[in-house]
Amino acid sequence: MAPSTLPETPTLGKVHSGIPESLLHKATSAKAAVYDGKTVSDKIPLKRGLPIPQGISEKAFLSAIDELRTAIGAENVELNDKEVNNGWYMEHPNTHDMMPLFDVEEFIASAVVYPGSVQEVQIIVRWANKHLIPIFPISIGRNLGYGGSAPRVRGSVTIDLGRRMNKILDINAEDYTCLVEPGVTFYALYEELQKRGLGDKMWIDTPDLGGGSVLGNTLDRGVGYTPYGDHWAVHSGLEVVLPKGEVVRTGMGGLEGSNTWQCFPYGFGPYSDGIFSQSNYGIVTKMGMALMPNPGGFESFMYTFQNESDLAPLMEIIRPLRIANILENVAQLRHGLQTLSIQGFPRAKYFKGKGQMPESIYREELKKTKTGDHAWVYYGMSYGPANIRKFKLDIVDAEFHKIPGCRKIDSKTLPAGEYFWSRDRIASGTPDLEELRWVNWMPNGGHIAFSPVSPIRGIDAERLFALAKQRHAEAGIDLMPAFCVGLREMHIIVEIVFDAQDADMKQKAEKCLRDMIDDAARLGYGEYRTHLALMDQVAGTYNWNDGALMKFNNTLKDALDPRGILAPGRCGIWPARYRQRGWELKGGEKRVEGDGVGPQPGGNKI
Ligand code: ADP
Repeated sequence: MAPSTLPETPTLGKVHSGIPESLLHKATSAKAAVYDGKTVSDKIPLKRGLPIPQGISEKAFLSAIDELRTAIGAENVELNDKEVNNGWYMEHPNTHDMMPLFDVEEFIASAVVYPGSVQEVQIIVRWANKHLIPIFPISIGRNLGYGGSAPRVRGSVTIDLGRRMNKILDINAEDYTCLVEPGVTFYALYEELQKRGLGDKMWIDTPDLGGGSVLGNTLDRGVGYTPYGDHWAVHSGLEVVLPKGEVVRTGMGGLEGSNTWQCFPYGFGPYSDGIFSQSNYGIVTKMGMALMPNPGGFESFMYTFQNESDLAPLMEIIRPLRIANILENVAQLRHGLQTLSIQGFPRAKYFKGKGQMPESIYREELKKTKTGDHAWVYYGMSYGPANIRKFKLDIVDAEFHKIPGCRKIDSKTLPAGEYFWSRDRIASGTPDLEELRWVNWMPNGGHIAFSPVSPIRGIDAERLFALAKQRHAEAGIDLMPAFCVGLREMHIIVEIVFDAQDADMKQKAEKCLRDMIDDAARLGYGEYRTHLALMDQVAGTYNWNDGALMKFNNTLKDALDPRGILAPGRCGIWPARYRQRGWELKGGEKRVEGDGVGPQPGGNKI
């Protein structure tokens, strides 16, 4: 579709997952740029027909779907039997991975259901148990780079919680907390605070893009960029529908009438919240979250460093400053090539050759940008009144300048459209829509991340950067790492941008990712989060003591979900019926399915 004929992106006033009015102009131009880079139509008819999950006949499946329609309303159950429709970030599909590494009909749902209440979620779960149909919950489904809305098992029924369960149930302006349903996006929570006149008093913490759900992002242990950036660490209280249909509330929510659910996460007894993040043990229907008091002022800063070899000494400087909270937020140290790609132009504008873009070319191009030539750029923010900020910023300035060639970029020289201001908004709790720009690097741009964690040390940064550099060079893929610095650890996020229509490039991308995961594991590093296609491999690297952790995970899975219906395979955790049947993806496969499912242990009766 020509960018000029694109329909307008729906706003929050129209749909729960929409864009705020204030960002509509950005959505319009971001969407035009995405569609400018598409070489194929969005809508493709299904080649293989309705994707029925293994272990059930088409007839039995369709009759089960009819039963579900009767139970929760025909309008709340949609079969996925016609086409895939890719869309883009703001108008994304809820049936499949729109940036697939494999054929688009591999990680794909057979149907999507839209529960409107906790009771309806329970009905769906009991229905899945009765018919042994795999189900896969999503909140918004914008977990892009990690699989989006796609289920791990082909033909699973997706439970799209966000469409009808999207209320902000509480904002408590005394405790600085909120309680949300799955379909509340960072955009929506931000807008509601402004509407209630609380925006000056309290901040949210937002990821790079604000369209994901607060609840889904937190369950997948996503991060944002204010001092409250570790979302899981600042949540308090979950309500969960368990795989057999019971409902539990965790922490203080276990005490009838408690007013402390969103203030004290632990309650009494075992702290159970952990088993519901990055797992397949429950469907979360409510979550509490802390909001940050307005710190009374903020100031973004940006420094550049000239040499790739500055990485290690810089990390040695960053660590003590970060642990002492002189560097206060989850800041980013980005590679220079990312400064170029975030300009939003296709790589072909700068270089038409195959393989990696030569360093000499992007360094020349960087000279023409407002940031100038550099190997690394640090984006940070200082919080509080001016005198308190000055105290911290002076220390940072003196420490960073110990690296020869370090330059502080004067933000007053940067025009309003400069990416720096997007980081400024995000680090001060205002969700934005600019991070997509680097996906335009490739036509039909898809992305997938390698995301290991390590201590904030020079030697660790150097090792991880070196292995990523080597594997990217072998694969001929441009390397654009970013280091996100938490309190005592850093995530290195290496996003591979690929052409989703280029099978050869996707194969190379997969090999590069798998090699990096193995290399990192050999050196003692593991990933904090991963794409559906890589979950088995990553889970397999956490194998201390003969895989004791996965044995424990399997014990929990069998106890909580004996019929194995909830998100089989998510995070490498397979129900008993799927084990030893070739469902694990090890690399090089063309199909994501295993060889059938076993009988229900203990018979098929519930
Ligand atoms: P977002 O809302 O950020 O777009 P998604 O809805 O894509 O995130 O969810 C991210 C991941 O977390 C998904 O893979 C999904 O399986 C899991 N997830 C999302 N919502 C829930 C939920 N309410 N209960 C259990 N797991 C969930």
